[in-house]
Amino acid sequence: MAAAAGFGSNTYRNAAHRSSLKADNKSLAANQSFKSSPSSSSSSSSSFKSRSLQPRKSSPAALGGANGVARDGGGVPGRVRVAVRLRPCNAEELAADADFADCVELQPELKRLKLRKNNWDTDTYAFDEIFTEFASQKRVYEVVAKPVVESVLEGYNGTVMAYGQTGTGKTYTLGKLGEEDTAARGIMVRAMEDILGDISLETDSVSVSYLQLYMETIQDLLDPSNDNISIVEDPKTGDVSLPGASLVEVRDQQSFLELLQLGEAHRFAANTKLNTESSRSHAILMVNVKRYVKEKDPVQSMENGSNSHLARTFKAPVVRKGKLVVVDLAGSERIDKSGSEGHTLEEAKSINLSLSALGKCINALAENSAHIPVRDSKLTRLLRDSFGGTARTSLVITIGPSPRHRGETMSTIMFGQRAMKVENMLKLKEEFDYKSLSRKLELQLDKLIAEHERQQKAFDDEIERIHAESEMQIAESERQYADALERERMKYQKEYMESIKKIEEQLVGDQRKHDSDSATVAQNDYYSNGEVSSISALKEVADLKKLLEKETLLKKAAEEELSNHKRQLYQSKLMEASATSEILKLRKLLEDESRQKDKLEGEISLLQSQLLQLSLDADERRRRLDRAGSGNDSNDLDCLMAQVKNPQLSDSENGEKASVAKLFEQVGLHKILSLLEADDVDVRIHAVKVVANLAAEEANQQKIVEAGGLMSLLNLLRSSDDETIHRVAAGAIANLAMNETNQELIMAQGGIRLLSTTATNAGDPQTLRMVAGAIANLCGNDKLQTMLRGEGGIKALLGMVHCGHPDVLAQVARGIANFAKCESRASAQGTKTGRSLLIEDGALPWIVQSANSEASAIRRHIELALCHLAQHEVNAKDMISGGALWELVRISRDCSREDIRTLAHRSLASSSTFKAELRRLRMDY
Ligand code: ADP
Ligand code: MG
Repeated sequence: MAAAAGFGSNTYRNAAHRSSLKADNKSLAANQSFKSSPSSSSSSSSSFKSRSLQPRKSSPAALGGANGVARDGGGVPGRVRVAVRLRPCNAEELAADADFADCVELQPELKRLKLRKNNWDTDTYAFDEIFTEFASQKRVYEVVAKPVVESVLEGYNGTVMAYGQTGTGKTYTLGKLGEEDTAARGIMVRAMEDILGDISLETDSVSVSYLQLYMETIQDLLDPSNDNISIVEDPKTGDVSLPGASLVEVRDQQSFLELLQLGEAHRFAANTKLNTESSRSHAILMVNVKRYVKEKDPVQSMENGSNSHLARTFKAPVVRKGKLVVVDLAGSERIDKSGSEGHTLEEAKSINLSLSALGKCINALAENSAHIPVRDSKLTRLLRDSFGGTARTSLVITIGPSPRHRGETMSTIMFGQRAMKVENMLKLKEEFDYKSLSRKLELQLDKLIAEHERQQKAFDDEIERIHAESEMQIAESERQYADALERERMKYQKEYMESIKKIEEQLVGDQRKHDSDSATVAQNDYYSNGEVSSISALKEVADLKKLLEKETLLKKAAEEELSNHKRQLYQSKLMEASATSEILKLRKLLEDESRQKDKLEGEISLLQSQLLQLSLDADERRRRLDRAGSGNDSNDLDCLMAQVKNPQLSDSENGEKASVAKLFEQVGLHKILSLLEADDVDVRIHAVKVVANLAAEEANQQKIVEAGGLMSLLNLLRSSDDETIHRVAAGAIANLAMNETNQELIMAQGGIRLLSTTATNAGDPQTLRMVAGAIANLCGNDKLQTMLRGEGGIKALLGMVHCGHPDVLAQVARGIANFAKCESRASAQGTKTGRSLLIEDGALPWIVQSANSEASAIRRHIELALCHLAQHEVNAKDMISGGALWELVRISRDCSREDIRTLAHRSLASSSTFKAELRRLRMDY
C-alpha cells in the first residue's frame, strides 16, 4: 500500500513552527507534547508512519518480522492524532446565519483554527490537520484513517473515532456507504476496501462485529436478539473482548456493505423500540485482521541440511492479529436535563455516562494523572487500548459553521486539544500459533508411525514367505534325493541278484557239461589219449574268461552308476548350501531393516524432544509474558528455579504440561539422556533443557539419577564449552542436589571442582546463580561439610560474590547460612570443636558487609548465618574483631523476624566473650 500523507508528515514539519506560536496563544503553549517529541528537531521530514515503526531495540529478524519491531513487550510511542472537519453550511444555516459572522476561521495551511470569542477576540488552536468544508471524503480517509489501517494490516491495533455535536458529520465521515456516489464513501467502507485489497484470502482472515452502546448496554447490530453483551477482560493482558458478539467473516466488499446496511437497519429498529435517537448512542465497528507472517530465507535451510530443515518444518507459524475499531460516538451536545426527550433525569445521566467518562479519561491521560478512571463506563472499558493503550488512534472532531452553536463547537475543540496530548505505546500483536504447529507435528508423527508400521508388517510377511519357501525347497530336494537313492539301490540289488542267478545257472550248466564231458573224456581217453580233454578244458577257460569279462563290464557299469549317484548327491548338497546362503542373505536383510527401524525411531524421538522443547519454550514464554506484565524480567532459568521452589506452581499449569509428561513416557528417559551426547550442539542444548525441566520435578529426580543423568550432566560441565549448556546443566544439577543421596553422588563425582571451574569460566550471572544454587544445596548436608570445604566449595562461593548480581549473592548467602547451620549442629553434638571453617576460609568480611544488604533474601540468610556462628564460643573472638558483634546486636534489636531476633539475643547472652566485650564497651545488654 502506498504511504499516505499521514497526520505525522505534516505534524512534524510544523512542529517548530507551532512552538513559535507559543508566545501569542495560550492554548498552543499547553501543547508541550510536540516539543518533547523525539523527531521534532532532527527528522522533520520523516512521516508519522516510518518514524513510529523504527525498532527501539534490535531483535532477531525471525522474531521481529518484516519490519523488525521489537516484540519483547516494548513498544513505540504514538500520540493520538486529531483532525478537525468543518461541515458545509446547510440550506437552513445559509438562510438563518446570513447576518452573522462565522464563529470559526480555518487556516488549513497553518493547521490552525481560530474561534471567535467576541467581536474583538479570537482564540487560536493547532491540530494535526484541518479539513475545510471542501475537503473530500478521499482526502479525509487518506489523512486520518489510512495510516491506522496500514498499522492494523501490519499487526497493530488501531482506532478511528469521530467526536462532535449531532449533525456535524460524524456518521457522514465514518459510516457513509456511498452507494449512489462512490466519491462519498466514508472511512468504514474505504478501510475495508484497503484491508481486503492487501490480505491474502487463502491464509489471512478478516471478521467484523458491529455494536451499539446505549444507556450502558451493548447491543449486537448484527443480531438484534443479542441485546446485552458483556465485556470480558483478560486479567493477565488487560485485553478486552466481547465473546457474546457475532463475529462475521468478511471475504468481499459487497458482503461487508450488506453487513453495514443490516447493522444500520437493526440500529434504527432498536432505537425506535427504545424511543431514542441514534445520535444518543455510540456505534462501534470492530474489524479483526489475522495474518500469518510469511517465512523467510528458504536458502539457508537448504544449505544447512536436514537439521535446519527439521527446525524450519517445526517452527511455530507466527500470526499477527490487528484490530481496527471505528467509533461513531453519540452527539457531544449536552443532554437536556429537563427530560424533554421523554427521559427521566436518571436516564439522562445514564445516556451521558459513557461520553462524559471518556472525557474524564482523556483529561486524566492528558494531565498524566496517576489514576485513569477507565472502569467508570462501558465505552472507556472498550476503548482502553485506544487511549493510553497500545493502539494507533486517530480522532476526527466534527464541527458545524453556525455561530448559534458556538458553545458546543468550543467544547468540541477543547476535547480535541486534550486528546492530542494522549500518548499511546504501539505494540505489535504477534504470537506463535503453537496450536497449528502442534497439529502439524502430530499429523507428521502419526504419518511416520503408520508408515513404519506398514513397512514392518510388509517386511515380516516377506521374511515369513521366504522362510516357508526355502523350507519347502529343502524338504523337496531331500525327498527327491532319498527317492533317487532308493531307486538306485533297488536297481542294483535287482541286477546283482540277476547276475548271481545267471552265474549260478552257468555254474550248474558248466557242472552238468563237465560231468558229461568227463564221461566222454573217459571214453575218448580210451580212444584218443586225452586230446579231447585238453580241448574242452581250453573251451571252458575261454567261457570263464568271457564270463569274467562280462562280470567286469557289469561291475564297471555299477561303478559308473554309483559315481552318478554320488554326483547327484553332491548336487543336492550344493543346492542345500545355496538355500542356506539365501537364508543368511535374508537374515542380513532383516538386520539392515531393523537398523533402519532403530534409526527411524531415533528420529521420531528427536522430533518428539523438539516438540517437547517447543512446548516448554511456549510455557516459558507464556510465563515470561505473564511476568513481563508485572514488570519482572527474569530469564528462562528462573522458571526452573521457580519450579524447584514452588513445585505446586507447575501443578497448576494447564493441560499442556500433562501432554509434555506423556511425551516423555513415549520418548523414554534413556533416549533423552542419550541426546545429551549428540554431536549437534543444538540438539544437546535442547536435550539438556529438557532434562533440566524434568529434574525440576521431584518425581523425576530419582529416575534421572538412576538412568545416569547426573553423570551425564556433570560430564557436560566437564566437556562442553557452551555457556548455555553450562547454565542449564548447572541448574539441573542444582535441582538434583536437593536430595541427600544425590548430594553424596555429586561430591563423589568431583562435582565441587567441576562447579568451581564452571563458575570461574562463566560470563553470565545466571550461570553463576545456578552454580551457587547447587553448591548452596550441598552446603546443607551435615556429612559433606569437611569434604566440601576441602574441595574448595566455600572459596568457590565467595569467589562468585564479585559478580555483584543480587540473585547470585542470595544463593551464596543461602549456602553460607546452610553451612553455618550444619556447623552449629555439629558443635552442639560435640563432633566439631575448632573455629568455623567459614571463618577459616575468610568468609567473615563478606558476611558482615552483607548483613545490612537491602535485598531481603540476602539479609535473612546472612542474619541466620551470623546467629549460627555466634552459637559457638570459639568463633566469638574473630566475630568481635571482624565487626560481627555489632551486626548481632542490631539483629537482636531490629530484625523484623521475631525468631531470628530471639536467636541473636540468645547467642549474645550465652557467650561470655560477647558479654565481656559488651561490658567493656559499656553497652547495656
Ligand atoms: P452526525 O452523525 O454528526 O450527527 P451526520 O453525519 O448525520 O451528522 O450529518 C448531518 C447531515 O450533514 C447529513 O445530512 C449529512 O449528509 C450532512 N453532512 C455532514 N457532513 C457533510 C459534508 N462534509 N459534506 C456534505 N454533507 C455533510
Ligand atoms: Mg450520526
